[in-house]
This record gives sequence, C-alpha cells and structure tokens, in this order.
Amino acid sequence: MYMKIEIDQENCIGCGSCSALAPETFAMNDDGKAEVKNQEGSSDEDTLEAAKSCPVSVIHLTNEEDKKIYPED
Ligand code: SF4
Repeated sequence: MYMKIEIDQENCIGCGSCSALAPETFAMNDDGKAEVKNQEGSSDEDTLEAAKSCPVSVIHLTNEEDKKIYPED
C-alpha cells in the first residue's frame, strides 16, 4: 500500500514510540523530535502501528488519492 507519512514535528513530544515500532521509517533527530527517515522503510503494518502508538497523534498517513488513512476523522 502506498502511504505518505508526515509528522507534525512541532507537537511531537519525543517519546520515541514510533522509532521503536517502525525503526526503518522513523528516527529521532538531534532535537529529540521524530522524523521520517525513509517513506518506504518499515512495513505498512509497522508504520501504521507506530502512528497509532503516538500519544499525541501527530503522525499522519495518507494514500495516493490524498485520503487520510490515519488518524481517521
Ligand atoms: S510517537 Fe509521536 S510523540 Fe512519540 S516520538 Fe513519535 S511522533 Fe513524537
């Protein structure tokens, strides 16, 4: 499945959950914020789990039609 992964970095609290669950997709930067290191790094399943694990829901996933996959409205 194609997914575009975006992080609202300003509101990331640096918990590290996303990079722990999908380490090939997410990494923590020097400011202690998560960033996308590879859009196609981890499996879609792991990336979705990582997004769901974010305590502040700042990981946004969209499909090729620009439709939201997560979080749902
Ligand atoms: S799970 Fe959310 S709050 Fe935690 S590091 Fe990742 S983006 Fe930031």
